[in-house]
This record gives sequence, structure tokens and C-alpha cells, in this order.
Amino acid sequence: MNGASHGAMNADLSGPLAARLQQIRAQLPAPTRLLAISKGQDGAAIREAVALGQRSFGESRLQEAMAKQAELRDLEPLDWHFIGRLQANKVRPVLQHFGTIHSIDSLALAQRVARIAAELNLAPGLLFQVKFRPDPAKGGFSPDELWAQWPQLRDLAPARPLGLMTITPLGLAADESRQVFEACRQLADRLGLPDCSMGMSGDWRAAAAAGSTWVRIGSALFGHRAPIGG
Ligand SMILES: *Cc1c(COP(=O)(O)O)cnc(C)c1O
Repeated sequence: MNGASHGAMNADLSGPLAARLQQIRAQLPAPTRLLAISKGQDGAAIREAVALGQRSFGESRLQEAMAKQAELRDLEPLDWHFIGRLQANKVRPVLQHFGTIHSIDSLALAQRVARIAAELNLAPGLLFQVKFRPDPAKGGFSPDELWAQWPQLRDLAPARPLGLMTITPLGLAADESRQVFEACRQLADRLGLPDCSMGMSGDWRAAAAAGSTWVRIGSALFGHRAPIGG
């Protein structure tokens, strides 16, 4: 509240993180928000970003995220998004530690999340992961599956369907990526969903231009991260 938070004391307001954050912010169109992907970064890096005004963070592994959340308990509440593959047996703790899940990749998972959210009295935001190009390395709905299952997927109260998430396959050419981003925005619009989580360090400008509402940026913001599995 009053500038004297721990984060503010530690912030290097002219350091590399500050410069990169400022550069990204200056290039994001108004509807596009920055999700700072902090996987593989330590708590101090997150603390520094918070001191620079960043509130929304994405993590892909539960244990790693919980350790950092505990370390950062003294900060104001942050906006945590889960972006990793979500195993059925991790749904409960993920709901207890994240307000938004970007990686809902099947109807069964969506319904399990809704049921456990009701038990826990939570109203998580959900994004459905969609594959617009074949990618054996990634989970997700095909656009056809999403349409076919939409009557059930739209009805997940108390969970709140917010949008779609997509990851472009590695090595996709720039014009192909742009087509994927445009297809994702178009599908979200047709389903009446406000959010599109798309764009990473290498392609966030194109994603933002196509109507991304969350760009998920890790290395272009924090620099190289410790290698992590999964
Ligand atoms: C790691 C990760 C990112 C960020 O990747 P960078 O290339 O470091 O920006 C974005 N989205 C997902 C799903 C990720 O796992």
C-alpha cells in the first residue's frame, strides 16, 4: 500500500528486469496483459517484478510454485495462473494455489475441476487449451472437439470459462503462427469467450496483434531460467 513493502526496498528500478518489463509494457496493446512466466526463476526475481508493478504470474509445476508462494507470503496477494499440464490427482492443490488455469485439456478434466471447485467453494477462471496444428508433444482439444463438447464445457459453474489457450508448435514459421493466433481469436469470439492466452517470448508481438489478452512471457522478461523437467 505505502511504498515501503519488502519488494520495493529490494527493487532495482533501473536493472535489466525493469528495462525489459518497461519495453514489453510499452508494446502491448490495451487489451493484452502480461502474464510473467516465473517457472525456473527464484522468489527474488518474482519479488523484483512485483516491486515493478507486475501482479500476474504463471507457473507450470505445482511443487515449485508452492515453495515460491510460501516464500512470498509477505507480499500483497498475487494473481497466480497455472499453465502446465494438469494431472487429475493435482486438481485440488492446484485450485488451492492458483486462481486461473490455462491448461484445461479435456472435458473430463474440466468437469473434475468444476466438481472440486464446488467442494472448495472456489470460482477459478478456466482457459481451454486448443491445438490448431498437430503437435504430439502437447495436449489439448482440437477445434472440432471443442465445438462438439461445448454444451458441457460452457456449463462448469462454479468454475468460470474465460477463454482459450494455445501454444504454437516449436519451429512454426512466422506467417503460420500468425494464422494460428488469428484462428484462436476467431474461435474464442465465436464461443463468446473474452480471453485468448497466446504468445510467448519468441512470438508475443504477433499474438498481441492478433488479439491475445494474455501473453505468457518467461525468458524474454526474466532472462534464462534454470532448466526444469516436464
Ligand atoms: C514456459 C512457458 C511459457 C514461457 O516461455 P518463454 O519462451 O520463456 O517465454 C509460456 N507458456 C507455457 C505454456 C510455458 O510452459
